[in-house]
Amino acid sequence: MSGLVPGLVPQGFSCSHGRKPLAAQSEPSRSHAVKSGRSARRAAPTGRPGRTDREIACNIEPSRLSSEVPAMPPAPRLAPLTGEGLLADRTYAALKKAILDNTLPPGTSLSVPELARQLDVSRSPVREAVQRLIHDGLATHAPHRGAEVSRVDIDDLRQLYVVREQLEGLAARLATEHLDGDGLAQLRGILAEHEAALAADADNAAQIELDMRFHRAVREFAGNPHLLAALEPIAGRSHFALHSLWRGAEAPRLALDEHRAVVDAMASGDPEMAEAAARRHISRLRVRLGQATAREAAPRRLRPSS
Ligand SMILES: [Zn+2]
Repeated sequence: MSGLVPGLVPQGFSCSHGRKPLAAQSEPSRSHAVKSGRSARRAAPTGRPGRTDREIACNIEPSRLSSEVPAMPPAPRLAPLTGEGLLADRTYAALKKAILDNTLPPGTSLSVPELARQLDVSRSPVREAVQRLIHDGLATHAPHRGAEVSRVDIDDLRQLYVVREQLEGLAARLATEHLDGDGLAQLRGILAEHEAALAADADNAAQIELDMRFHRAVREFAGNPHLLAALEPIAGRSHFALHSLWRGAEAPRLALDEHRAVVDAMASGDPEMAEAAARRHISRLRVRLGQATAREAAPRRLRPSS
């Protein structure tokens, strides 16, 4: 069975059908799209077991699309960059926010020239930002199309959460062994910010960013570069799921309470308790993904299992 996270991909899964995302750009622009040496998950050929019809439908060759869709400039979705700080960092932050709040939905082509035009910056910071997004797991390199916002498949997310549950547990255990007063204060600071965001009824993107910061801090305190390298892209991709899972009013509160339980266990100096608390947190999200799969699969024709 395979399904999409409900509400997660309101438009993005339709790629170029029906409307024209950044993907429907001119050929010269597409040739500038960022290439990456990393092998993308979506590099698998069409017809791979577990892919949805809609995903497969999105793999129509770009040449065919361009003949079907009249050439016109894509509608800008991003506002020109403002503010201070390193241009590369601001570009990265703007694109990441646009992905997390679904302004750039899954499957959207990350054309460097087009994004540079919309953000009113040069191509170089955009190129760098897209590479960072690929590293985060928020973008992937699509064969013949350059980079695009990672597509989300709920079955794939569930598999990802199985691994994430183990690794986040390990991260919490190792972090407990290394945690000092400063580290603990940092974690408590993130919890306090998250609490304030909840009280202010902050939008999902802000809360998801705080959730990501919390888990990033824990895995950095774990002090194991191999664990960090394994967990970083998994955590990035899995945060897509939160757009759907955090729809209920109680979900962000529950997540914050679970984060607090992890920190309390770490503060007590008990690595095993911290590991168990972190695993419980991720496992609950995995179970909710399973429930979402069941809901989504109900009206669908079941696929033969492979
Ligand atoms: Zn969390």
